[in-house]
Amino acid sequence: MSRVHAVIEWNVHFLSPPFIGAGPTTADADRATVRDSDGNPIIPGSSVKGRLRHHCERIARALKVACCEGPQADMMCPNYYFRSSEDAPTPVAGHEHFFCPVCLIFGSPWLASPLHFSDWHCERDDELDDETWDLLDKTALRTGIGMNRYTRTVQDQRLFVTRTVAPALPAVFKGRAQGFLPAGLGLEALLYAGVLDVCRVGGGNSRGLGWIDRADGAAPTVSVGEKGLEQPMDRATLRAGLEKLQEVFGTQNSSDGGDAQ
Ligand SMILES: [Zn+2]
Repeated sequence: MSRVHAVIEWNVHFLSPPFIGAGPTTADADRATVRDSDGNPIIPGSSVKGRLRHHCERIARALKVACCEGPQADMMCPNYYFRSSEDAPTPVAGHEHFFCPVCLIFGSPWLASPLHFSDWHCERDDELDDETWDLLDKTALRTGIGMNRYTRTVQDQRLFVTRTVAPALPAVFKGRAQGFLPAGLGLEALLYAGVLDVCRVGGGNSRGLGWIDRADGAAPTVSVGEKGLEQPMDRATLRAGLEKLQEVFGTQNSSDGGDAQ
């Protein structure tokens, strides 16, 4: 099976502070955002990967491309294809047809993902000097109230404090993912479409946290090719790749087609 090397690169400014609530509880906050050893906030690669997978699944369903339904392991590939054989597309090379395109990119409980996602680290914006940057508070406290999700009312004793990335931090978050994808299946196009579709990361969706600035000219790139000779994808390669994806994995009469949510 031939493979192609894919590299994703992000240089992200945030419109609203991101919050990844996986950090340790501290004396002043119930939930804290994740930080590196220098105390600078990071966006964990696993968080980016989860968000990107969700967007790729949405796009695959919109394209009527067969795609399993996580996160329950028995509904994911390869079980997905064994359970719904009438939906399974024509087998392609090797065993790959037992995994949907999303699992081939992001992995399943039975298949390691070929892509490795590094954490997004923040760096000072160019107009700032090191001294000013070192003195900046990179995180900020934010209070919230716990809402009862059924009655939509404030719950007693449910004031909580989170430590998010500081609002309007003059920083760029840089991240990278790379790995060898199976070639000739259009997987890199689905990946690229997902990368372009991601508009926010982290938790706090209902509170408007983690929105990415899409107007600063620093669009993420996906480059593919022989390792070291990757070329950035563009609209033409995206379109051709998505057509290939539909040809290989497309299913017109899928019973789970469309967005089930
Ligand atoms: Zn799958």
